[in-house]
Amino acid sequence: MFERAFNFSAGPAALPLEVLQQAAEEMTNFRGSGMSVMEMSHRGPEFMQIAEQAQADLRELMQIPKEYAVLFLQGGGLGENAIVPLNLMGPRAQADYLVTGSWSEKSAQEASRYGNVALVAPVSKPFTTVAAPDTWTCSPQASYFHLCTNETIDGIEIGDVPFEAIPPGVPVVADVSSHILSRPMPIERYGVLYGGAQKNIGPAGLTLVIIRHDLLGRASPVCPSVFNYQVVDQADSMFNTPPTFAIYIAGLVFQWLKRQGGLKVIEARNLAKAQRLYEHLDRGGLFFSRVDPRYRSRMNVTFFMRDEALYDPFLAQAKAQGMVQLKGHRSVGGLRASIYNAVPMQAVETLVQFMAEFERTHG
Ligand SMILES: *Cc1c(COP(=O)(O)O)cnc(C)c1O
Repeated sequence: MFERAFNFSAGPAALPLEVLQQAAEEMTNFRGSGMSVMEMSHRGPEFMQIAEQAQADLRELMQIPKEYAVLFLQGGGLGENAIVPLNLMGPRAQADYLVTGSWSEKSAQEASRYGNVALVAPVSKPFTTVAAPDTWTCSPQASYFHLCTNETIDGIEIGDVPFEAIPPGVPVVADVSSHILSRPMPIERYGVLYGGAQKNIGPAGLTLVIIRHDLLGRASPVCPSVFNYQVVDQADSMFNTPPTFAIYIAGLVFQWLKRQGGLKVIEARNLAKAQRLYEHLDRGGLFFSRVDPRYRSRMNVTFFMRDEALYDPFLAQAKAQGMVQLKGHRSVGGLRASIYNAVPMQAVETLVQFMAEFERTHG
């Protein structure tokens, strides 16, 4: 076995080795407390310090304005599909959704249980691009506009959201689960950003919500209190027991990101990794991408092989060489390399060289 695999998993996904090593060192006795982080009270001084530091570091990394609350929740990205409408539909009970892939499609479906959901553009499958923003039929009366800025399954990323296509005054809600912290984002243009932690932040179980203060306090009376953004904000994300260990690991990842030089540095690295892979896919060999180049994800590179019979040998040989989790999502097929922040260029380089070698021997 390889000591550490090149892990291309879409999530739960690779974490920085330094973070895992630090967590291992602190596992049985966190900084002289005589216990692990998992064993301590969430209201005790050690954990309060962990949570405060994590929030401060996240705010610094993402440059989150003071008008925004940061909430540590549970329920994952799919939980938010219900939690968002329960908090934001309001009496108008009408929201606009842009469907660009599997995750935003699920978001729209779930939201329609709570109010009227209008799709701003027709759904066109397979998902390979984004409908032209000047064709979106947005309503100025909508309670909010929802989109997923990185479709993990389909490999579609909206890097620069065309905010000018969305009526001013309609809060923009984005599922950023799989590219949060991969690049700087204009927080001040959003009402809400949310994401599950297990793609690019830390362990599963933690969901991050960044919400503009004026959107708090609009929840439906039937919204569970643990998911009521205002209730959670007023309790500093300690209304109920938060996912303490996941918050601790996320905090270590935030510090790791700061040591790397912050999100601009990380973005440049992510761009180089993605370009290396897409350049190879565009060479006309055995592999190809079918995603519109304008919307190709830097985090989740989905691709196909011209010969169906070669998938199994490709995956088996990749695994034998320490490259794992390259199979595409079952709903899409093909292959997918998720190259989140913690996946080094060396992993991408090894993969590209292996693909070239595979093409030489199977071309
Ligand atoms: C993984 C993912 C989800 C679902 O997250 P869960 O934590 O499993 O609920 C939702 N949206 C996006 C974009 C994702 O990548």
